[in-house]
Amino acid sequence: MTTPMPTAADLLGRRKRILVTGGAGFIGGAVVRRLLNESDATVFNLDKMGYASDLTSIEQTLSTLGEGSAERHRLLQVDLTDAAAVEAAVKQADPDLVMHLAAESHVDRSISGPGVFIESNVTGTYNLLQAVRAHYEGLAGERRTSFRMHHISTDEVFGSLGAEGRFSETTPYDPRSPYSASKAASDHLVQAWHHTYGLPVVLTNCSNNYGPWQFPEKLIPVVILKASSGQDIPLYGDGLNIRDWLYVEDHVDALLLAACNGVNGRSYCVGGHGEKTNRDVVETICRQLDQLHNREPSHLDLVKRVTDRPGHDRRYAIDPTRISTELGWVPRHDVNEGLEATVKWYLSNQEWCQDVRSKAGYQGERLGIK
Ligand code: NAD
Repeated sequence: MTTPMPTAADLLGRRKRILVTGGAGFIGGAVVRRLLNESDATVFNLDKMGYASDLTSIEQTLSTLGEGSAERHRLLQVDLTDAAAVEAAVKQADPDLVMHLAAESHVDRSISGPGVFIESNVTGTYNLLQAVRAHYEGLAGERRTSFRMHHISTDEVFGSLGAEGRFSETTPYDPRSPYSASKAASDHLVQAWHHTYGLPVVLTNCSNNYGPWQFPEKLIPVVILKASSGQDIPLYGDGLNIRDWLYVEDHVDALLLAACNGVNGRSYCVGGHGEKTNRDVVETICRQLDQLHNREPSHLDLVKRVTDRPGHDRRYAIDPTRISTELGWVPRHDVNEGLEATVKWYLSNQEWCQDVRSKAGYQGERLGIK
């Protein structure tokens, strides 16, 4: 039997003011919902409200929590590239804990337009570090002792694996895409602010996430939506690139454990032993849809190979020993069950998908060809 995950309230203890950046995005939104549902903390959600942002899931959560709860979620619509606005937002939030998720996050978009990735992910993290450092220097007593800035990053900073081996905290950095290079740069800045200025930090590097409320431009929601509407399903290259898939709520478990109990200055790799080739992911989703829709011929007939992503990393896999042994993290979702829940969620929320795509001016077209 697995030990139950402590609640957000248990983990936060006396930390009552939490600054989450990127809280209107996919993973940040899941973090904000967990904090609202499981604690009485006030969440300051700093987000520029870019193309992938949406607050519907947070609004739904607040509506279930009853009167007065709206006060516990404060949107700070700020672009991290605006240093003065970031400084003012950090002052207003006056946080006990910072969880930094805001970033441009789609590899294909980073190939088409790398500039915004450098600005948001590198300069943006620099601006946040400077503002948080000034804030930390003004803290005293227990608020100072327990303060952390948690930087949320990706396994993509480690590059590409061959058939064997897994990434761990000691793997050298070797980013290959504009996205992963910008995230690697931000990781280095966070470590530098820790070593040089004594800022208390924790870092996490996680594998690919999936689950409800992900903006429908990434592999899993794209496949579900294309397949369920009878459109061709694009499979990049030979489809044998491997990702280590993690259900988003399992990632949130890991983030809260690392943010609250992680050792100052330490990084933790997060992955749920969910390795699958892209072809396997696509075929699993097609078979699940076949069962749900009783479709003949199979959705598999819609799969079409398309030109590969330039510089497509072959394999990512994580060794999560450190976070499991030191912090007691265990993923709670098997990848096939998580995929099935995700397929059902997207089928029931197609209106939301259409709304967010329209708002973003994106209709599922291929991105990231040089
Ligand atoms: P997302 O694209 O869904 O959300 C990112 C949010 O950040 C958006 O709401 C966006 O508006 C905001 N943002 C971007 N640039 C900003 C800026 N300059 N100023 C203020 N806000 C800004 O991304 P996600 O999938 O939720 O990823 C969140 C974090 O987790 C990212 O840092 C990403 O690198 C990391 N990560 C993601 C995955 C994954 O599989 N999605 C895996 C590991 C790590």
